[in-house]
Amino acid sequence: EAKSLGRGQVQFFSESMRQKLKGAALLETDIQRAIQHNEFELYYQPIFRIADGSVAAFEALVRWHHPDKGFVTPDSFIPVAEDSGLIMQLDLHLLEQAAKQLQCWQKTIKTPFRITVNVSSRHFANLDFVSFIDNLYQSYQLKPGSLCIEITESGLIANLSLATKIIEGLAPHQVKLCLDDFGTGYSALGYLHQLPIHVLKIDKSFIDNLKDGKNNPLVEAILTLAVSLELDVVAEGIEQQSQLDVLKQTNCDYGQGFLVAKPMPAAEAILYLNEHK
Ligand code: C2E
Ligand code: MG
Ligand code: MG
Ligand code: MG
Repeated sequence: EAKSLGRGQVQFFSESMRQKLKGAALLETDIQRAIQHNEFELYYQPIFRIADGSVAAFEALVRWHHPDKGFVTPDSFIPVAEDSGLIMQLDLHLLEQAAKQLQCWQKTIKTPFRITVNVSSRHFANLDFVSFIDNLYQSYQLKPGSLCIEITESGLIANLSLATKIIEGLAPHQVKLCLDDFGTGYSALGYLHQLPIHVLKIDKSFIDNLKDGKNNPLVEAILTLAVSLELDVVAEGIEQQSQLDVLKQTNCDYGQGFLVAKPMPAAEAILYLNEHK
């Protein structure tokens, strides 16, 4: 907020705002440098079939090995990257890393599984994303259906027809689309049946409420909605056995959470997969 200091003098930024902007600018340069130096590593968290605990997919989650700050988790830099637009470059860098990993795993693992990658909904406002994914499938000879993209809903509804076109552009590779953190955002349900998406991921905050074997009417409603729209459902952030029990009773097919497995480096993930086929 602009603040008048008297005679023709206007102070546009408070000192704390100035520091914040400076911090964000430094972080941007740092992220660019880090991409070049390969400091970002993808960790993989299993998404399992609730019925038998077998692995259906891995969600790729970025970690930053920073030369000074050490091990950095995404919440401290993804929002800045998102605001500055740098997320476009970072996402593509990480998608390529995930594709490389998938190619490597597909050589030895015969059971089908997916890697799901989080991307900014900004990509769903530009058809370039389709050709990028085309190239990725060709360069890394990915199997159809092996890649899933996670996005939050808000960015999609901004331009529904373009987003739809982009999702349809990915269809030849059977790229699945997952709405992440479902239930927390806009949730204008009207758009749901218009979008060619495949998976709803129920936000952790709803799973937190599944205590003492009690169901949450919202979780039930989402599951019912998913059945009628023929969508898969993943429950994220399962931390307690009682939550898993409730989800089993309500016929939720897929789950993810610290109770079963935390995100882990690729070398550990492949061992986990071999033990939970
Ligand atoms: P998200 O996509 O909703 O990912 C789920 C987050 O919850 C992850 O945090 C995961 O480690 C954490 N989680 C999983 N199970 C549990 C549980 O049982 N309990 C608790 N307390 N947490 C659990 P993480 O890895 O710190 O990622 C945070 C967010 O950063 C992600 O939320 C996603 O929005 C974003 N993000 C992560 N990696 C990427 C990426 O490669 N690209 C982009 N664009 N965003 C990313
Ligand atoms: Mg996610
Ligand atoms: Mg989520
Ligand atoms: Mg999230």
